[in-house]
Amino acid sequence: MTNTEPLPQPKRGSQGGSDTGPRNVALDRQNPDLLSPPATDHGTLPNLKFSMSMAHTRIEQGGWTREVTQRELPIATELAGVDMKLEPGAYRELHWHKQSEWAYVLQGSCRIGAVDQEGRNFLEDVREGDLWFFPQGVPHHIQALGEGVEFLLVFDDGGFSENATFMMSDFFAHTPRSVIAKNFGWSAEQLDRLPEREKYIFSGQVPPPLESDAVVSPTGDVPRTFKHRLLDQEPERFDGGHARVADSTNFAAADKISAALVEIEPGGLRELHWHPTDDEWQYWIKGSGRMGVFASSGMNGTFNYQAGDVGYVPFAYGHYIENTGKEPLVFLEMFRNPKFEDISLSQWMANTPPQVAAETLNLPRETVEAIPKTKARITI
Ligand code: MN
Ligand code: MN
Repeated sequence: MTNTEPLPQPKRGSQGGSDTGPRNVALDRQNPDLLSPPATDHGTLPNLKFSMSMAHTRIEQGGWTREVTQRELPIATELAGVDMKLEPGAYRELHWHKQSEWAYVLQGSCRIGAVDQEGRNFLEDVREGDLWFFPQGVPHHIQALGEGVEFLLVFDDGGFSENATFMMSDFFAHTPRSVIAKNFGWSAEQLDRLPEREKYIFSGQVPPPLESDAVVSPTGDVPRTFKHRLLDQEPERFDGGHARVADSTNFAAADKISAALVEIEPGGLRELHWHPTDDEWQYWIKGSGRMGVFASSGMNGTFNYQAGDVGYVPFAYGHYIENTGKEPLVFLEMFRNPKFEDISLSQWMANTPPQVAAETLNLPRETVEAIPKTKARITI
C-alpha cells in the first residue's frame, strides 16, 4: 500500500529540518507528536507506549496470545496485559496464578469457570463488552463458544507473564505417577493417558448449553459473581463522550482492579486530570488519539495511540487524552485499586476560592467563577 500523504518531517514553524533518512516512515506517521512535538513538551519522560503489535505472539493449536508487561514497557510496574484469541471450542487450559485476573471480552463469546477455596463453583458465558475477575490463586479456565473469542486480560503485577502460570497438565506431568495413583486411586492404564507436558491453549469441542454443563457443588456457588456485564450499565454522559466505570462498588468481586471504558467523540477531550494513588494502564480499542503527560519540574511529553496500543501514566502525573481521529475513540483505563478515582483540574479550581486561581493564572475572577463545579471527565 502506498501512502500519498507528504512525508512527515521533524519541523515546527521555522525550527527543525527535514529527515533524509534512514527512517521508519510508517512509525513516524503513527507518532506525529514524537516526530514534531508540541512546543510545550520538554524534558525526558519514560516511554509510555508499547503496542501489542510490537509484542511476540505465541501461536498454539486453537489460538494465539501476546502480552505487554514490564519487560516490554519498563515503567508499567503495577499492571500487565495479555491479548488472547481462541477459535471455536478451544481452551485456555485449567490454571491458576499468583496475580488477580481482570478481563474484558473484545469480540465473540466464551465460557469461564472457576472453583474457590471452599469448593464453591462459578460457570458463566460472557460475550463482547463483559468483564470477569478471578482472585489470585483461584483456579479457572476459559473455553471459546461457537463464534470464537478475543479478550484482554489484565493482571495486578507488571512482572506477570502468561507463559508462567500454574497449569493442571504441567502439575500432572511433573508429579510422580505413584503419587498421582495414590492421590486419585487411578490404574496404570489411566496414568498412561496423561499428557507429558503442559497444554496451555488447545482445540476442543464447543461445550453444550450452560444449563447442561453446570456442576452442582455441595458448598454452593461463589458468593460474589466473577462476571460483570459492563455494557448493561447506563454510561455517565458528558459533552463529547461517555464513560462506564466498573470497580468494587458495582462489581464487588473486583477488589484489586478498577476500570473505566471511555468513548470520546472526534475532537473530544478526556479532561486534564490525574489519579491520586495509582498508575493508569490503558488499552486502546478503537480510533486514535494523543495523550499529553505532565511530569512536574517543567517536564511534559506527548504520545500517540491507536487500536491495539497500550498506554501508561505514572500516578499523580497530570494528563489529557484527545481524540485526533475521525471516528469515536474507545479505550480502557485501569488501576490497581478497588475504587476508580480521578482528580479533575477544573473541579479543583472551581471549588477553590476564585481569587486564588485568578491571581495564580493572571485571569479575571469571573473567568474562574465560570468554571463548572462538577467533574466534566470528557469535554469538547
Ligand atoms: Mn488466568
Ligand atoms: Mn487518567
